[in-house]
Amino acid sequence: MSENSNLVTSTQGIIKEALDKLGFDQGMYELIKEPMRLLKVRIPVRMDDGTVKVFTGYRAQHNDAVGPTKGGVRFHPDVTEDDVVALSMWMTLKAGIVNLPYGGGKGGIVCDPREMSIGEVERLSRGYVRAISQIVGPTKDIPAPDVFTNAQIMAWMMDEYSAIDEYNSPGFITGKPLVLGGSQGRDKATAMGVVICLEQALEKRGKTIEGSRVVIQGFGNAGSFLSKILSDRGAKIIGISDAHAALHDPNGLDIDYLLDRRDSFGMVTNLFEDTITNQELLELDCDVLIPAAIANQITGDNAANVKADILCEAANGPTTAEATKILNDKGTLIVPDVLASAGGVTVSYFEWVQNNQGYYWGEEEVNTKMTEILIKAFDDIYELSQSRRVDMRLAAYIIGIKRTAEASRYRGWA
Ligand code: GLU
Repeated sequence: MSENSNLVTSTQGIIKEALDKLGFDQGMYELIKEPMRLLKVRIPVRMDDGTVKVFTGYRAQHNDAVGPTKGGVRFHPDVTEDDVVALSMWMTLKAGIVNLPYGGGKGGIVCDPREMSIGEVERLSRGYVRAISQIVGPTKDIPAPDVFTNAQIMAWMMDEYSAIDEYNSPGFITGKPLVLGGSQGRDKATAMGVVICLEQALEKRGKTIEGSRVVIQGFGNAGSFLSKILSDRGAKIIGISDAHAALHDPNGLDIDYLLDRRDSFGMVTNLFEDTITNQELLELDCDVLIPAAIANQITGDNAANVKADILCEAANGPTTAEATKILNDKGTLIVPDVLASAGGVTVSYFEWVQNNQGYYWGEEEVNTKMTEILIKAFDDIYELSQSRRVDMRLAAYIIGIKRTAEASRYRGWA
């Protein structure tokens, strides 16, 4: 079994446990264990050298009983169908946890944008939208940014969809530039959501952000904004990493300097000689560890060596089931991915509401509303984990899947 199929299998395992705790039967699990729709597309793109390269892309729509499906599109050479399937299920859980009227969706293209020109990335983005246009739309399935996609890519996708739809459709996609109907605060939203959840978790341990020693894995959209917000608020960021290596300074890294030097894909360690490995980074002595990169980083092999008191998962699926058990047994407080990373989709929802109304909010309004939603989500999950004596991840899945299961039952789907 490949590592990626484990993502689906382990997600299915926790969903089954959550449905059992909620009193749903096997029929409900049969409905929810896989996406209701999964599209694979082949996208021909004219490359700059005149040849045509054909890329593979996916869009998975997990369950739209509650409302249209919603979730990002990632551009990455390692994307697989299984990844997109698991990620679409996690989006259902996130939407349920923060109570948004959406089901989960996710897309991906097998490509390496780091090796492509801007023109090639634009043609690929437009080709993907043409390929999936029949199943997406502002009331069907609303894409957004994810790994290696950004506001510019959302703008090209929105423009392509608007041409197909024959009118301006800002509500087709979120994470757009502000001038095209993007929302204030969307760029920092994932990081802000992590910070809000982390603050609640630290409070449970009698600690604050100020003075905490924090390690962040990943320096992309989430990791870079996180390092800035946390260091501005007095945390000591003692370790960061990119896809190649990691930097460590027990006295705290100079985050502004690193942010200034990172490239648009979050690469910065190549500028330093004195680096450590990503594995060493995860095992550093610290108060808080924030994986903000890719899946399956904390596993049965290294979990016992993780020294952090709080593991706050900004990435999707960074901790395997085996590692979760080891950390729970050690007493580590885990803030699960489907809660900690839900700030992005929360502000995406605000963006979509603003697009649908044609009425735009200020940044303070966005942040106040997001903070309220995430604090409530954290409290609900923490209280459920205490009252039902289950770990934070299972508590998050119970709350995250409940509404989709109930809506599916009302519709007569299970
Ligand atoms: N890709 C982000 C996530 O995994 C955001 C999704 C969205 O904004 O719809 O949560």
